[in-house]
Amino acid sequence: METTGIKDSLIEQTDGQETLSAEQLLMRDSLTGLDKYEVFLEKLEKGIGEIGDRRIAIVYTDIKYFKYINDTYGYQVGDVLLKDFVAEIMKNSVRLICCSRVYSDNFVTANFLREDLTNEAFRDYIHSVNLEREAKFREKYLNSRLQFCTGITIIDKNSRSLDAETVVSNANLARKVAKEMDEDCCILFDSSMMEGIKREVEITSRVPKAIANHEFQVYYQPKIETDTLRLIGAEALVRWQKPDGSFIYPDQFIPLIERSGQVVDVDYYVYREVFKFVAERMTAGKNMVPISLNVSRVHLNKMNILKYIQELFEEFQIPAGMIEFELTESIYLDNTERALELVKGLHKLGTRVSMDDFGSGYSSLNLLSRLPIDIIKLDKVFLKDMDLQESDKIIISCVVDMAKRLSITSLCEGVETIEQSDYLKEVGCQIQQGYYFSKPISQRDFEEFMDRKK
Ligand code: C2E
Ligand code: CA
Ligand code: CA
Repeated sequence: METTGIKDSLIEQTDGQETLSAEQLLMRDSLTGLDKYEVFLEKLEKGIGEIGDRRIAIVYTDIKYFKYINDTYGYQVGDVLLKDFVAEIMKNSVRLICCSRVYSDNFVTANFLREDLTNEAFRDYIHSVNLEREAKFREKYLNSRLQFCTGITIIDKNSRSLDAETVVSNANLARKVAKEMDEDCCILFDSSMMEGIKREVEITSRVPKAIANHEFQVYYQPKIETDTLRLIGAEALVRWQKPDGSFIYPDQFIPLIERSGQVVDVDYYVYREVFKFVAERMTAGKNMVPISLNVSRVHLNKMNILKYIQELFEEFQIPAGMIEFELTESIYLDNTERALELVKGLHKLGTRVSMDDFGSGYSSLNLLSRLPIDIIKLDKVFLKDMDLQESDKIIISCVVDMAKRLSITSLCEGVETIEQSDYLKEVGCQIQQGYYFSKPISQRDFEEFMDRKK
């Protein structure tokens, strides 16, 4: 293949050991021996100044699921992996201007590009190197998901006015875009990516006003008991209705406000609305079912959430059994200790906790036995086809069976057809949620739904 040819000619082994003076050591990252990031920026700045007719490629890479390695195998193994990774980078670096670890598992290199290589061919080359590294590392570190995410920006004399920090930040932006894609984890920066940033700033800057103006609304999606087809609960899902009446759906803004941290305020707003709703129905003597609330991963950073919920219980005086919390399985993987602390705190308040989106990401089965969760919510990926695939059927029935043995209730979301619903009944999945029963509906419609079911 052509890329292999390019690769062979690019690989150049580094020389043997260097002897460093005390001063040089101060300029290096102690773990990897690479230049400190400040030094990197200085060298890149100098490289840009001397660019002439050449091009410089800035390659920014991080290791997806690196934290998982640290958490699972310990920091020592994580450190060895980082050093191995550096050795790999150095093996593939010719015409290198400089190389540095920005922080944690984020690395950046800058090198002059060979004249005959197009920008796209260079990207393909880096992509092929990443794939090769992944195969090697997965074998060595027993982790089938480990992945390198790379953003590349290539500059020439026309971009000489850019400073080193801007150039690296462009490569980093491309890396972030790459990270959100499952397949193609190696992307060239292009200026349209700045549009995404602009939109992000636009949305996040409007959030405080939207909260004050009550533009966020809570919708409710019924949960149905498989055996009796009774309504036994609902999930609260936020909707953002702009003053012009149009809706923005959570997938379009939750990831953005998670990055800005504002999701905490939006969640608190939703929680308060739900508590108020439950209290009003109960005070009026109307029937009500438990409502589950989504918990963003961002709450783990501060952990004020428990105090806030406790205050809501004190203010609204509703039974703890009326509120449940949904934590995505990825939260547990991000930071198992904190997540465990949160689950225990929620249990202390008397509420039930579910593991949301189970099966959508890196499902860790042993996590199920380690965490005291009450409900497991099978992700809708298992029901992606109208006709259930044999393999999905096997997984569903195994997960349901396993949950049962661990005394965990199982719920399947995304149920859209009667066939799917019947299959879930057959394998003993206790609760179902999905468009087959109802889409998420406004509070008023949900009240009608409850009154009808009664
Ligand atoms: P989720 O927690 O997994 O919520 C379920 C999503 O699946 C909802 O999308 C729901 O409308 C959709 N859904 C339900 N049944 C079906 C079905 O039968 N077929 C299909 N194709 N989809 C179905 P929605 O409301 O757009 O929410 C998307 C995600 O946004 C949620 O995923 C949740 O992660 C997040 N989210 C929503 N509301 C909140 C909130 O108040 N706080 C936080 N932190 N996250 C929220
Ligand atoms: Ca959920
Ligand atoms: Ca879910």
